[in-house]
Amino acid sequence: MTDLQDLYQELILDHGRRPRNFKQLDGANTAEGYNPLCGDKVKVYIRTDNDVVTDVSFEGAGCAISTASASLMTEIVKGKSRAEAEQLFKAFHDLVTGHQSMLDSPDLGKLAVFSGVSEFPTRVKCATLSWHTLLAALSDNDQVVSTE
Ligand code: ZN
Repeated sequence: MTDLQDLYQELILDHGRRPRNFKQLDGANTAEGYNPLCGDKVKVYIRTDNDVVTDVSFEGAGCAISTASASLMTEIVKGKSRAEAEQLFKAFHDLVTGHQSMLDSPDLGKLAVFSGVSEFPTRVKCATLSWHTLLAALSDNDQVVSTE
């Protein structure tokens, strides 16, 4: 398992250093999120067509966990419907809080690298901040999301 854990950490570090889809999207729905516990800030941009996410990006500044989570989130939700994105977030939330259910969970793919977060409860908000913000952007909710 040691090698797998090393790989997972490497993936988080890689996305933390070189986040994917880290840019503005013109004409997109946006929402901003803030995690005062850690100081993470994120702004999510999302475009949808017939309830399907056609493009998604983010900007912000935060710890490696929050940045990597946002980066990997943008990769997995593109092409998904709103309902699928909500299911992914539920499964991801279960994963990072250690309540993972094997039943009816969508495939989290690379997001499985965050399973170790469940052992660090203070980092759960870092990992979920971008997801809370994504759902706010999907709802076209202009309020700033705070984890506190
Ligand atoms: Zn953080």
